[in-house]
Amino acid sequence: MNKTSEQLFEESKQVLVGGVNSPVRAFKAVGGAPRFMARGQGSKIYDVEGKEYIDYVLSWGPLILGHAHPAVVHAARQALENGSSFGAPTEAELKLARLVQEFYPSIEKIRFTSSGTEACMGAIRAARGFTSRDKIIKFEGCYHGHADYLLVKAGSGASTLGEPDSAGVPKNFTKDTIVVPYNDPAGVEQAFKRHGKNIAAVIIEPVAGNIGVVLPDPDLLPFLREITRRYDSLLIHDEVLCGFRIPDGGAQARFQVKPDLTCLGKVIGGGFPVGAYAGRKDVMACVSPEGPVYQAGTLSGNPVAMAAGIATLEELKSPSIQQTLHDRTLQLVQGMDANLKEARITAQVLSIGSMFSLFFTRKVPRNYADVKTQNAERFKKYFHAMLERGIYLAPSGYEAGFVSAAHTPEDIEKTLAGQQEALAQLKK
Ligand SMILES: *Cc1c(COP(=O)(O)O)cnc(C)c1O
Repeated sequence: MNKTSEQLFEESKQVLVGGVNSPVRAFKAVGGAPRFMARGQGSKIYDVEGKEYIDYVLSWGPLILGHAHPAVVHAARQALENGSSFGAPTEAELKLARLVQEFYPSIEKIRFTSSGTEACMGAIRAARGFTSRDKIIKFEGCYHGHADYLLVKAGSGASTLGEPDSAGVPKNFTKDTIVVPYNDPAGVEQAFKRHGKNIAAVIIEPVAGNIGVVLPDPDLLPFLREITRRYDSLLIHDEVLCGFRIPDGGAQARFQVKPDLTCLGKVIGGGFPVGAYAGRKDVMACVSPEGPVYQAGTLSGNPVAMAAGIATLEELKSPSIQQTLHDRTLQLVQGMDANLKEARITAQVLSIGSMFSLFFTRKVPRNYADVKTQNAERFKKYFHAMLERGIYLAPSGYEAGFVSAAHTPEDIEKTLAGQQEALAQLKK
């Protein structure tokens, strides 16, 4: 007999911290044992007990083509057979860089890393090197990886200097991070008035995705572009999550704002560990070996990961794949809205591109504080009711959901039928 998820979780907890290698996987917010996965195919994943789920986590976003897409598997396998790593340049890096440029015209030069965390660290270091300034502005609830100075929560009052949001982060390391609420241009203005000459960059998730999907007000991103220019500081779009999820050039194309630097990750690795920071060539010229800003990686530009990324982006150029992503997401969110109305449950369904969120809040959230008004108990019940019905959502009310090009209309119908039952159960 195979071990059950419960058994594996108990054993894992003895040797792995919390039984997992990234905290949200532990189901702490929803309770119970996380499902241990055995395999994935297309829109479906299968746990160790053989139970099938329609997957809306997709490895937290990267698997935009679904699990084990034939083109990605083929490309990765072929690369692997030619040797998994060289620590020397390969043509695959050039190819993926050119492909990324096709989607992102603002990108003149690019550096690949092994994670989104490293991409954001690299972008900020480059911005600091270029401007010879230390301070950065980030937005409450936006996640840019787990670098010390980015694990920051707002202090008291608007646009204050940040306080560490994790044990182990010295206060000194967060003193140059200014935290402002999302969708609060006045807070940004105030921070620039106070610290303008010392602000190297503003970093933002142009569509917030790590508190669930929260959309920028129409004037937010243009305002950030304008004020950063005004103060000779840089604008960094962290599109690790929303890049490639918003078709035809990500958030910068959708909102018509050209940032100085862009961070990418997730989708560009096709399910392998890849990140990138990229943008203006005069800024990127600060980065070693062209310039004095040091940043490196033993496995950066890994050929297997590059091959998977190339295969993924090549597929994404297909208009029919983009149409599928659009149609399925629309079918899902419209169906969810209809279900909620019918069940007379107040909740907000938000989406852009192929990412979506359902918030149990009274009004459409515009920032982290709004998201936090969510009914946590309700989310917990909803999550488990969906899981029982073979629908795999992120085990936290603060995460986006994702649709892949492998999701079929039948998958969505089944999801919506399951949701109808789950919502009925909430009222009991
Ligand atoms: C996931 C994510 C990161 C961090 O990427 P990792 O590969 O997990 O290090 C950074 N920024 C955003 C917006 C993300 O969603």
